[in-house]
Amino acid sequence: MHPNYGVIQSCASADAAYAHCGATGVLGWGKEGHYAICKIAEEYLSEGALLAVKQLLPDSAGGDLAELCSWADEIRWHFHWSSALHYVDTPDFKCNYDYCRDCHDSYGHKDRCVTGAIYNYTMQLKSAYADTKSELKYNLTEALLFLSHFVGDVHQPLHAGFTGDLGGNTIMVRWYRRKANLHHVWDNMIIDSALKTFYDSELKVMIQAIQKNITDIWSNDVTDWEHCAHNYTACPDWYASESVSLACKFAYRNATPGSTLEDDYFLSRLPIVEKRLAQGGVRLAATLNRIFDSQPRIAQA
Ligand SMILES: [Zn+2]
Repeated sequence: MHPNYGVIQSCASADAAYAHCGATGVLGWGKEGHYAICKIAEEYLSEGALLAVKQLLPDSAGGDLAELCSWADEIRWHFHWSSALHYVDTPDFKCNYDYCRDCHDSYGHKDRCVTGAIYNYTMQLKSAYADTKSELKYNLTEALLFLSHFVGDVHQPLHAGFTGDLGGNTIMVRWYRRKANLHHVWDNMIIDSALKTFYDSELKVMIQAIQKNITDIWSNDVTDWEHCAHNYTACPDWYASESVSLACKFAYRNATPGSTLEDDYFLSRLPIVEKRLAQGGVRLAATLNRIFDSQPRIAQA
């Protein structure tokens, strides 16, 4: 077991984590998508959470979580065991998600998927902050960086895509004139095309536009987005269910192997991508606030 991957939730077996897992080439939102999610999250952090985040960040981040939001992708080849934690594959054409059925790696090792990883790193951070007297068992800087990245990944619809096509990785299409696989279209190409077409190639401008939508057309939805039922600290199962549903309705639709995706696809899917970036950011902040604002528990007699 890798020392920084503990045991997680409900259907977790005691041997929840393993070294050596298969790499599939799945990465997650590209650098821009992850940067945007963490940047949006920063705006919604409570004072206490912001302070805790800054204390955990290494100096190289300059106090900015967004700078290290893609760290988990950069170290994938070094921390090979972490590859399976970027996604959860669901049964072909089912369009639904079930933690106990779906959260495992390609060897069938339970809890090794993006939702399991979110529970795991939430638990690591929360247990350390809820009981300051407890011995530090985990590398909390890594836990923060993994959590911030994986909350982003679980919002990319094809990170809860079908097992048979590896979340769209084996579906080759054309994105306008360029060859690409469908997963990459959703990780990068839609965002890249949006930057060029609408935002003057400035990520900052795109992030500002999304932030404006959050306080404007989506303002009535933000409380719902932040909500986590049953007083849970993290709610990744809900986000994965939304993702596979969006994968069926938008990502896979009209994107069969060999098809050319152009304006029709781009302009109808971009609003989905922008909303997922917004939800990812708001929910990352809500999760970190719940972790770091929790009061130390009083031991019961
Ligand atoms: Zn990723």
